[in-house]
Amino acid sequence: MLLGHRIIVRTDHKNLTHPDTNHVSDRVLRQRLLLEEYGAEIEYIKGDKNVVADALSRLPTQELFLFDDTGDAEFPLNLRLIADHQHSDDYLQTQLRANSKKFIIIVRESVQLHARSDTATIYVPAALRAAILQWYHATLQHPGVKRMQATVRENFYWPGMDATVESLVHTCAICQQCKLTAVKKYGKIPLPVNTKVTPWEEVHVNLVGPWDVRFNITSVPGKATIEKIHALTVIEKATGWPEFIAICNKSSYHISILFDSEWLCRYPIPAKVVFDNGTKFTGQEFQELLISYGIKPVPTTVRNPRSNGVIK
Ligand SMILES: [Zn+2]
Repeated sequence: MLLGHRIIVRTDHKNLTHPDTNHVSDRVLRQRLLLEEYGAEIEYIKGDKNVVADALSRLPTQELFLFDDTGDAEFPLNLRLIADHQHSDDYLQTQLRANSKKFIIIVRESVQLHARSDTATIYVPAALRAAILQWYHATLQHPGVKRMQATVRENFYWPGMDATVESLVHTCAICQQCKLTAVKKYGKIPLPVNTKVTPWEEVHVNLVGPWDVRFNITSVPGKATIEKIHALTVIEKATGWPEFIAICNKSSYHISILFDSEWLCRYPIPAKVVFDNGTKFTGQEFQELLISYGIKPVPTTVRNPRSNGVIK
């Protein structure tokens, strides 16, 4: 439906619009790659202006109370049940007997309820808290601690509510398996920044093998010989263009001839060639070949495969 149309995605998630993807999390990067598949233009919009999307994502808090005792409401509690439990709740009754100013009486749907005096959020008796938490957590699709605390706080109150929410999120099996914070972080190889890359300037060479290769003997059907084959691998750094050249002899002379005929004679002459410290590359013939073309030889340091990382 979307393909081929001009799409503008407006989001209040500023990270999604960040031009430098090095500074966003893997999750944001994945979301962005998904959006970019449709050629979407992503624009930042302030959170309070993003009313269209919010209309779908905000919980209809008032509607929570629109059910009655007979209805098959999704919300597990109703106002009368909360009011009844408030009468038998030890904490609330102790507070009321002590004339605490912490609570006031509010009326919702003709039901009288005790609510916090400063926020007018309904006090939830101890017996009903677990049901409320479970319902919110499932309905909101397993939110994190902060978001769940903020949502429950919009309507309800009980002492130590934040801690109860936190312990529920931290002990939820699904959250532990799926949340980003539960996945162990790993380090990243630092990438060179602002590196200027010129095609055909730098070429990396290496030897790979041996591989056992089966050769059929054409004169004798069903007969084959197994031979050990090495290959000279050559990769152009900027484009990643690779070539594999089979070799039957690992001498510096043989490799020089192949590198000359299979690469140097076919492609632009590179400014430098990177190789490891193997004798085939440090050998006289290979070095002389490079010098004859005016190519700078770049041997990598011993036991540092990353310096020739392209080809490794
Ligand atoms: Zn969960």
